[in-house]
Amino acid sequence: MCSSQNAPVREPLRTCVGCREKSTQRALCRLKLAAGTVVVDDKGSLPGRGAWIHPTSSCYDNAQKRHAFARAFKTQKANAEALGHWLIERGHMASTSHEGG
Ligand SMILES: [Zn+2]
Repeated sequence: MCSSQNAPVREPLRTCVGCREKSTQRALCRLKLAAGTVVVDDKGSLPGRGAWIHPTSSCYDNAQKRHAFARAFKTQKANAEALGHWLIERGHMASTSHEGG
């Protein structure tokens, strides 16, 4: 069952909370929980438990639907709205507001 393969890995892999696929840290966004809110830890300087997600709308939606943020942070509620805004601002995700034209 658990064959331990010591394949040479150049970069540490992290699991995306949205699609559960492993990627390098560079391909993912580091998340932290601050006062019940999921925040993007750009500088990697925030303390506490971290989570990782691909900066895409599909992974964000998946994580939201599956309550993956709360699970990743081992808490009951994790508000990821700020992350959604961050993704929209960075152009990773389309805004949900109606755009004229
Ligand atoms: Zn993902």
